[in-house]
Amino acid sequence: MKSLYLIKPYLSERRLFIVLGLIFLITVDFLQLFIPRIIKWAIDDLTGYRIDKISLLIYALYIVGISVLIGIFRYLWRRCLMGTSRRVEEGLRNRLFAHVQTLSAPYFDKAKTGDLMAHATNDIQNVRMATGMGIVALTDAVVLGTAAVGFMVYINVKLTLFVLIPMPLIVFGARFFSKKMHRGYHEVQGAFSELTEVVRERFAGIRMIKAYNREQEASSKIETVSKDYIGKNLALVRITGSFSPMMILFSNISLAIVLFLGGRQTITFTITPGDFVAFIAYLGLLTWPMMATGWVTNLIQRGKASLNRIDRIIKEKPTIDDPADPVWPDHVSGSIGFESVTFSYRPFDRSSVAAPVLDGIDLEIKHGNVLGIVGPPGSGKSTLLSLIPRIFDVGGGCITMDSIDIRKIQLAHLRSMISYMPQEPFLFAGTIRENITFDSRKTNESQLIQAVERASLLDAINTFPNGFETIVGEKGIVLSGGQKQRVGLARMLLKDAPVMILDDPISQVDLKTGETIIDTIRAMAGEKTIIIVSHRLSALRFADRIIALDHGRIFESGTHAELMANNQYYAKTFRLQEVEEEYA
Ligand code: ADP
Ligand code: MG
Repeated sequence: MKSLYLIKPYLSERRLFIVLGLIFLITVDFLQLFIPRIIKWAIDDLTGYRIDKISLLIYALYIVGISVLIGIFRYLWRRCLMGTSRRVEEGLRNRLFAHVQTLSAPYFDKAKTGDLMAHATNDIQNVRMATGMGIVALTDAVVLGTAAVGFMVYINVKLTLFVLIPMPLIVFGARFFSKKMHRGYHEVQGAFSELTEVVRERFAGIRMIKAYNREQEASSKIETVSKDYIGKNLALVRITGSFSPMMILFSNISLAIVLFLGGRQTITFTITPGDFVAFIAYLGLLTWPMMATGWVTNLIQRGKASLNRIDRIIKEKPTIDDPADPVWPDHVSGSIGFESVTFSYRPFDRSSVAAPVLDGIDLEIKHGNVLGIVGPPGSGKSTLLSLIPRIFDVGGGCITMDSIDIRKIQLAHLRSMISYMPQEPFLFAGTIRENITFDSRKTNESQLIQAVERASLLDAINTFPNGFETIVGEKGIVLSGGQKQRVGLARMLLKDAPVMILDDPISQVDLKTGETIIDTIRAMAGEKTIIIVSHRLSALRFADRIIALDHGRIFESGTHAELMANNQYYAKTFRLQEVEEEYA
């Protein structure tokens, strides 16, 4: 199996524990097999009237002693082997996460978050089960199974053969049921997460539901999902409920065979009464290895399939990656150039041709200059910005930084040159401080306060119950859209890179705050290369050049004064907004 390389490092790291664990496990198996021997000796002594109270007590103490040893060794193998499988789980999960993080934006357009979550949980759990319980069940099946049969053969071959007749039923029964139980269990889990999600969403959207009088519909939706969950649970109960009665039936058939045939052999003195009782005890020990045989094939199959799925993700290469021979510019001034850049997103189905989102874009932004971008929604403004830090790569043409094709610059280096504020900054669950500094230990307090002040966020933070340590998100206070935007802005100002990219930074703040923010940005002109998208055109008046995009093409370009004189889209929109703002 090729994908085994994924877990090998963790297994060899735990080699000592695996060897010890197996020794302890096999020791337990043999100790268990010893108990029927003691019973045999005791009964043979009893039926031969050769026993006194003292030796009976000794036999009893043997059994107590062995049971104590079994307990100790069982604890030890569990620690060694289960610890190993947990280590495999941990290592594999970290590796998968580290790898997925290196993949590029186009991969995440293709792969659903839910699927990735499933790989990180179910598949890794399957591998853990295969390396933990899989190894245990396999060892028990082989060692305990053959040894028990061996002791039975030692007592009587013919009897053993008859008793083994129902055993394949146990093996196949266990295989069949464990498969069904696993599937049923997963369906229950799936239905449960669906239920949680629907309930969570209905609670989160409770204001909307109330405003539109949709309580009835929300309730009936919950009822449907809830009914599905109960149905799946009952289906699982039907399977688990019939499993053990079935197994007990099969092993009781074996017991009946022993009782009848073995009893007759005891009468004819072929075997001793002690052998007869020991035989029944061995039979009891044999049920688990038989079930384990059926179970282990499923465990290993599932683990293998899961490991292969994980392997496929690990084999996935980032489409946007470092160049083979990166150029290291000593000093980046931060001028940006676009040369006939075209771009299209991957089409959703392969048959259709992707429409170009950007088409023949030529731009030159000198160091310290400000470029403003305007255009109707969907015209490609955000896409254009995302190409500069290589969130996506250009389809045709090229983008340069200091006249070097950005694909020739080390990715981490390129991104360290750019401060990028996306249209909808994402907030992680955590404190305001963590969200702004991104957990970076490098930032000192005065830098943080300065950035927050410049982002017009300090007053808001001061009103929060715990200031910078206030938790935001689901578990904390809820920030308004404009506050989130300013957190994104503070993040960006703190990074302080030579190139600043802002995607509609004032779309959700009031006019006055917007003006303060624009003043902050404006103060950086001349020092930083700034590219800024805004739907509020007045915010871009100070730009050295403004372009208007539509359908991925530049159709107007110039300074504010030039565009106003041009009297086209820009000038008309500008005047319209001026009137709106007056009456706002
Ligand atoms: P703008 O920022 O000007 O509103 P965008 O750059 O966000 O425009 O979008 C331009 C076009 O690209 C739109 O038609 C949009 O639907 C499409 N688009 C944006 N992001 C994606 C994506 N991740 N996958 C596919 N299409 C996208
Ligand atoms: Mg946009």
